Amino acid sequence: MALSNSTGLSAAAVIDIWEQGAGRHPLDQALLLLRYACPDEPFETLCEWTVGERDARLLEARRSTFGDRIEGYAACPACCNGLEFELSCEGLLGLASTRGSTWHKVEQAGYSWDLRGPNSRDLAAAAAAPDVDRARRIILSRCIRNGTAAVDEFDWTDELQAALAARLSELDPLAEILIDLTCAACGHAWQTVFDIVNFFWNEIHLRSRRLLQEVDLLARVYGWTEVEILGMTDQRRSLYVGMALS
Ligand SMILES: [Zn+2]
Repeated sequence: MALSNSTGLSAAAVIDIWEQGAGRHPLDQALLLLRYACPDEPFETLCEWTVGERDARLLEARRSTFGDRIEGYAACPACCNGLEFELSCEGLLGLASTRGSTWHKVEQAGYSWDLRGPNSRDLAAAAAAPDVDRARRIILSRCIRNGTAAVDEFDWTDELQAALAARLSELDPLAEILIDLTCAACGHAWQTVFDIVNFFWNEIHLRSRRLLQEVDLLARVYGWTEVEILGMTDQRRSLYVGMALS
């Protein structure tokens, strides 16, 4: 995968993204982040990246903006004890596949199928479905072709759906990041899904609030404009914040 070599989102970009994306659907928030992280890519291309390709770009943008280390938190489903865990963007990027967006032939249930990894458009179509089963059918019908018959004519047994969904995940391993956790308090072991869109968006939200508080402080103390304050490096801005507070 030709992974972009981003320098990270600027302070002004972080605030723009937060302002435009607050309260919107996570699919839109992800595309908005990509528009800023990959400014040279046409919007059509961003929409056609598989979920795994999309998330690889988001992990890169996150690493270059906030650093490589991710500190996650989960509550034990057995005893509710809180558990902190660490991930690395670099490590997760090692799971990224270059194969997701093209059609691949697989054999399943005696038939030959063409599969491709779901992209943002497929997820948007599925998001409009009334329930999870219908959403899964929409994804499968968009991402699976059968050479001899229309996919809709097939008897979609639960087994066939699950098998084909599993083949889709193999094509795009980064699409669902599962983390193995073990509770330190009760020993319960479980898997949790790490959602980079949700995680990165929360960080954008928190960073925006902090940046605007810094703008407010420095504008009042020194009379600088928002553009001037956001244009500073983080190091310089935080030195002034320290002096303004002392
Ligand atoms: Zn526990």
